[in-house]
Amino acid sequence: MGIPESSISYLIKLLEEKLDVLITTHYNPDGDAIGSSLALYHFLSARGIKAKVIIPNELPSFLQWMPGASEAVIYMENPDLGNSLIASAELIFCMDYNGLSRVKVFADELRDASAVRVLIDHHVQPENEFDLVFSEISVSSTSELLFQIIDEAGLTSGITKEMAECFFVGIMTDTGSFSFACNRPETFEIAAKLIKTGIDVERVHRMVYDTYSESRMRLLGHSLGSNMKVLPEFATAYIWLTMEDLEKYDYQQGDTEGVVNYALSIQNVAVAVLFTEREDRIRVSLRSKGDFSVNEFARAHFNGGGHRNAAGGDIFKSMPEALAWFESLLPSYSSEIQKSLSNYK
Ligand code: 5GP
Ligand code: MN
Repeated sequence: MGIPESSISYLIKLLEEKLDVLITTHYNPDGDAIGSSLALYHFLSARGIKAKVIIPNELPSFLQWMPGASEAVIYMENPDLGNSLIASAELIFCMDYNGLSRVKVFADELRDASAVRVLIDHHVQPENEFDLVFSEISVSSTSELLFQIIDEAGLTSGITKEMAECFFVGIMTDTGSFSFACNRPETFEIAAKLIKTGIDVERVHRMVYDTYSESRMRLLGHSLGSNMKVLPEFATAYIWLTMEDLEKYDYQQGDTEGVVNYALSIQNVAVAVLFTEREDRIRVSLRSKGDFSVNEFARAHFNGGGHRNAAGGDIFKSMPEALAWFESLLPSYSSEIQKSLSNYK
């Protein structure tokens, strides 16, 4: 991995100017989005830089305990405040997303902002909408990349326990508790450095993964028990959740996180998809094993993207139409998916 030295020195110069900083992340923020944003927030605040975090929509409950989470501005709850923060910011960090459209609700405002936009992200194919780009796909997470940037700038001695918790949540959630996207030894070296600050790793894990509501667990049961279809001929499994399903299980933001991974855990399944019905669209969440790129697949068919093995997108059809259409796409990918599966073993 090579972060250009010129980018690091430019960033250091920007930070020395002590500009007004705004930290932004993507819609439906996950552990890495919040982890990297809050880690940066604490890091900058500790250096006397005025920074604010703005999140497009509500945080899932399993992240609300994180240090600094309650100070973040939720744009959808207060768009006027959000807009004034965007307009007055001098430096805007774009954390864990590769195109302004991913923040959805304030994408236009970000595009029109006069601030310098700095991207820190690990998704493939970043858009050409940023003034300074730290984009690295070999890392596990944006949190890991941010740590490396701070390290290369020679500033890790200032990493506190609360920052370390934020970094750790980002790395832990984006690697499924160190089970994927974690073949780089540096990921574990960074984790070790974070643990040395004194964080209680077991507690962090518990706060994220052992605080599910009963209805969330039952929604998972329903997803796997009644709403999952396995298509062995295409090494594919998919799950669908209608608005009725979600209502029945008292759906809360974040409750479907991780559901798609269970479908991918099936032996001989190389592609797993979760279709979730929203008011105006079907949200698609894709995962794969091996070289089959769900990023390319989501870009080609669902106006989405992400990483090779984890991507998302949208379908503007009814649920039955979306599922039938998805199944109709599979035959032309059959050999590619099978090849990915056989190389993966
Ligand atoms: P998830 O399925 O967990 O929502 O998303 C998986 C990955 O794909 C995440 O890294 C996320 O950033 C990316 N992703 C999800 N939805 C979209 C989308 O609509 N467009 C793009 N470009 N990336 C997405
Ligand atoms: Mn991420």
